[in-house]
Amino acid sequence: MKLKSLEIHGFKSFADKTVIDFMPGMTGIVGPNGSGKSNIIEAIRWVMGEQSAKGLRGNTMADVIFGGAKNRSALGRASVTMTIDNSDHYLHSAFDELQVSRRLYRNGDAEYLINGVKSRLKDITDLFVDTGLGRESFSIINQGKVEAIFNAKAEDRRAIIEDVAGVFKYKQNKIKSQNELAQTQANLDRLLDIIKEIA
Ligand code: ATP
Repeated sequence: MKLKSLEIHGFKSFADKTVIDFMPGMTGIVGPNGSGKSNIIEAIRWVMGEQSAKGLRGNTMADVIFGGAKNRSALGRASVTMTIDNSDHYLHSAFDELQVSRRLYRNGDAEYLINGVKSRLKDITDLFVDTGLGRESFSIINQGKVEAIFNAKAEDRRAIIEDVAGVFKYKQNKIKSQNELAQTQANLDRLLDIIKEIA
């Protein structure tokens, strides 16, 4: 699975349609302060279903739409499309190539598309679930995150490490199984009581 390209149009500082092609190997994005480097990362998180405006440094989700600049009026729509090479089928889809798109209009209308087909947010979330790529995952580390991890309490840091190591999922399964076991034991006890009453 590889990120092939990103098309950003009307999202934050990207008023014009901008296409970034990611070549094999490592990609570095450089530029002066305020030139939009973080906006590119936020475009990736947004297209993967980010729901928190605050998490995207805004007050409302409409703040992601290009809001105007010198000699340039505001736009009415933000659109991001991420193209993924899925030839190894790492993502849960039969397609070798996936195009995930998200659009937001100033009137609040929003749409998600997978390979051009209108989809639900859940379809997008399901695509990335358990792949380590979800919007909450550690595949994207924001500015200040490393410092926050170092400064976190020991138990919070442990939770982060367990999440990265994939232990969290098993802990959840363990709690679920323990609850089921307790329920089964309660049913058994009740059955034994009934048997005693009848006998
Ligand atoms: P630094 O190196 O300081 O971290 P950066 O290159 O990561 O900066 P960003 O934080 O991505 O820069 O971009 C900030 C710029 O994006 C600011 O100039 C801000 O005005 C602009 N911007 C953010 N949202 C919008 C919007 N909705 N419309 C227009 N411009 C926006």
